[in-house]
Amino acid sequence: MSVRVRFAPSPTGPLHIGGARTALFNYLFARAHSGVFVLRIDDTDKERSTKAFEDDILDSMRWLGIDWDEGPDSSGDFAPYRQSEREERHRDAALRLLAEEKAFYDDEKVLRLRYPIGEVVVRDMVCGDCVFNMQSLGQEPALLRSNGTPTYHIASVLDDVEMNITHIIRGQDHLTNTAKHQVLFEALSGKVPTFAHLPLILGEDGSKMSKRNTEGLTTVTEFRDAGYLSEALINFLSLLGWSHPEELETLSREELLRSFDLGRVNQTAAKFEFQKLDFLNGWWIRNLPVEHVAREARAFVDDYSDLIDERGPEFWESVVDGLRGKLTRLSDMAAFGPLLFSLTPDIADDAREHFSEGDAHAGFLSVAKRWCELLAEVPLEGDRDCYTVEQFKKMTKILKKELDVDAKTVFQGLRVLVTGSLSGPDLQVLASSIQRSVLQERARSVVAAFSS
Ligand code: GLU
Repeated sequence: MSVRVRFAPSPTGPLHIGGARTALFNYLFARAHSGVFVLRIDDTDKERSTKAFEDDILDSMRWLGIDWDEGPDSSGDFAPYRQSEREERHRDAALRLLAEEKAFYDDEKVLRLRYPIGEVVVRDMVCGDCVFNMQSLGQEPALLRSNGTPTYHIASVLDDVEMNITHIIRGQDHLTNTAKHQVLFEALSGKVPTFAHLPLILGEDGSKMSKRNTEGLTTVTEFRDAGYLSEALINFLSLLGWSHPEELETLSREELLRSFDLGRVNQTAAKFEFQKLDFLNGWWIRNLPVEHVAREARAFVDDYSDLIDERGPEFWESVVDGLRGKLTRLSDMAAFGPLLFSLTPDIADDAREHFSEGDAHAGFLSVAKRWCELLAEVPLEGDRDCYTVEQFKKMTKILKKELDVDAKTVFQGLRVLVTGSLSGPDLQVLASSIQRSVLQERARSVVAAFSS
């Protein structure tokens, strides 16, 4: 029988990182077995489910590249894929169980599943055999509320039966549900799918993952907006509870599709390590084709879009290529807009302090004076509007050689004249990406600020 798995999010919130990990593992498992990956929207909670959350979930999955074969937006043999559109079936199935005496009405008119006396063994691909004494699991699960509406339990299990789901891969937090669902599967169809429960994801402090231990980021959209690449996030998510057979850490989608295996998922809780995510993101920023990174980075310099376009098609790619070596998040690029285009840079406090008095001040002024002369004297090459890296290096050499100023003051002074700050990205790349007229204007504005 061919593999059919499903990811069944409730649209009661945006797609969280934990849900994305569940979606990814289902997707990888389906692809590894040439199976089918179903996206089903579990919207039985009508009050809390919204179309906006459903859209966020679908958009987040698309952005991550976790594509599904059957789902609410595509036709499939088992449509509809929204549980709210399957309510009749859920109610009929629950009433069938009542007729077969597999369910009963309690005093409050809630229809509940009848439990067997004794134990239920869940055979789990990750956790092994888990034995549950049903009587210790509390009240039997509700199938129909007293107003007659079906619950998550009947909806989920019936849909899994009707959609021919072969493997249920979901978080360990569902393990006790699974014991109940197993009884329900047997009651409805006599067949039980294979289960695989994924380990919990904990924050770095060992407590439940929440905004507090993930730098305020919990949803896929938040990570995207904070400047993480989908390649890095997929790579990071894959390592939350799974490891590569050769312990490789930087893993492409192709490599994951080749090597993913539920047998290597561990039982113990996974830790959300931010440092690792940052490391992977930096690695992907450096290693993906520059066109791709440049395209993704554009979102973070939106305000400078026209200025970037004016500089021609290769400009932005060469800037990103020159500066991506030290980036951790694409959002670090937000600073590049003003760095590349502003005519009057803000002068950082430490720069102002450093060059405000004595020898440092005098040294700075002589660097500034000669720098302004060089900007007027040294011609641009060809039809360029900015200097080349080589030219900038030569101009720096001239300053060092001609002036009676130590090398450090030359470098720092030049950086302040170009950027207004003592620190920042590679100055050669930056200076050779800024138009000469802008460099001139900036130097004038910085000198004026130090002379007043
Ligand atoms: N809608 C449920 C959830 O989001 C689905 C659980 C399941 O996979 O059955 O937790």
